[in-house]
Amino acid sequence: MKKNIYENYRVVIPIEDGRWTQKTATEFKMDAEKLIASIKKHCDVVGQYECDVREICEFCGSDWKSSINEEGCPICCNEALQEWEAFAQKRG
Ligand SMILES: [Zn+2]
Repeated sequence: MKKNIYENYRVVIPIEDGRWTQKTATEFKMDAEKLIASIKKHCDVVGQYECDVREICEFCGSDWKSSINEEGCPICCNEALQEWEAFAQKRG
């Protein structure tokens, strides 16, 4: 079975306000610098956080996408293969 590894947690603070805008790269950079200055004073403007998710085999830790064949059958280790076969037998 695959297992998710959550890593590189970070706080995301949007610079754009969600409305259509024609700001230049320089204006966005100025907005970002203003935001950073504001955060340094207090943390009220912190937005949501995000992180990267990496799928691995729960048994051997191999990268999941390179651990399965075209049919989704694990090819990385015996434990994953046995689990996949047991699951396939249950489904019939
Ligand atoms: Zn494995």
